[in-house]
Amino acid sequence: MDRNPYAIFLSEVILQQTRVAQGNAYFVKFLEKYPTVEDLAAAPLDSVLALWSGLGYYNRARNLHRAAQHITQNWGGHWREDVADWMQLPGVGPYTAGAVCSIAFDTQAIAVDGNVERVLSRIFHVTHTVGTAEAQRAFNAAAWAILPPKRTGQHNQALMELGSLICTPRQPKCAECPVASLCAVSFQPNAAEALPVKKKNAPVKEVILEWALYSILGHVALRKRTEKGIWQGLYEPPSREAWETDISWTGPNTFSHALSHRKLFISLYWARNIGGANHLPPPPEGCQWIPLDKRDEFGLPAPLSKAILKKMIYLMH
Ligand code: SF4
Repeated sequence: MDRNPYAIFLSEVILQQTRVAQGNAYFVKFLEKYPTVEDLAAAPLDSVLALWSGLGYYNRARNLHRAAQHITQNWGGHWREDVADWMQLPGVGPYTAGAVCSIAFDTQAIAVDGNVERVLSRIFHVTHTVGTAEAQRAFNAAAWAILPPKRTGQHNQALMELGSLICTPRQPKCAECPVASLCAVSFQPNAAEALPVKKKNAPVKEVILEWALYSILGHVALRKRTEKGIWQGLYEPPSREAWETDISWTGPNTFSHALSHRKLFISLYWARNIGGANHLPPPPEGCQWIPLDKRDEFGLPAPLSKAILKKMIYLMH
């Protein structure tokens, strides 16, 4: 087992709200570029966001960066083994703190994520709605009740694995389950699938974005988003009005991009080699010219990096 607290913390942050298959590649990239917490703390935020590009939920990257700075500045070179210390870090809640402390140090700590909630709700027949204070109390009490005195990290990871591989949301594999004899709903597929009880999802909000992409001499004009929100600090194209100049526009290319609670409908207009320029003119207000071949050094929203730049590169050849 890798007991490097930094690597364990990194993987826990990356794997929140991310599939393991996708998260693994990012975990490897981060460890390669920032092998220690000091390396991550010293990196410019822009570089961290750039490496995070495509994972979404960019606040996780901002918090990870600030947490690394807090650790290097305030922990005096010693890892803390106490959940309360980890919960002082930006973006670190009870789950992450408990997971890191138990896995890295075998601290007496529970780690209740979605998979563990499902397992506990079924074993102990917890019927409170997930997300309510009652449910949280019931899950925490159940998790503490079965926490062993030693090897808490292995125990917590085993519970997570049980949830992800055996006690699945649909058709749990009770015949393969090592705790079937203790479970309130074992071999009762309908009763098991009804747990945990979940709130109805909030309706997905639709958002319309109009982007104008200027391309000159292998550069694109992008601006850094300062507005609060999921893309704060990332680079995006300006709106069409941002540059008063005589441009013939092509497009729009339209496409949609789904986020967890939003569906974006993006119209992309583009103009290239404006006026046959052979030098870079001043960019639209608030923008800078970013060389296309250096785009990986800038944090771009996923739909921009995946769809738009692919299109741009295609257009340039
Ligand atoms: S017996 Fe079935 S429902 Fe119960 S914990 Fe195991 S897999 Fe889940």
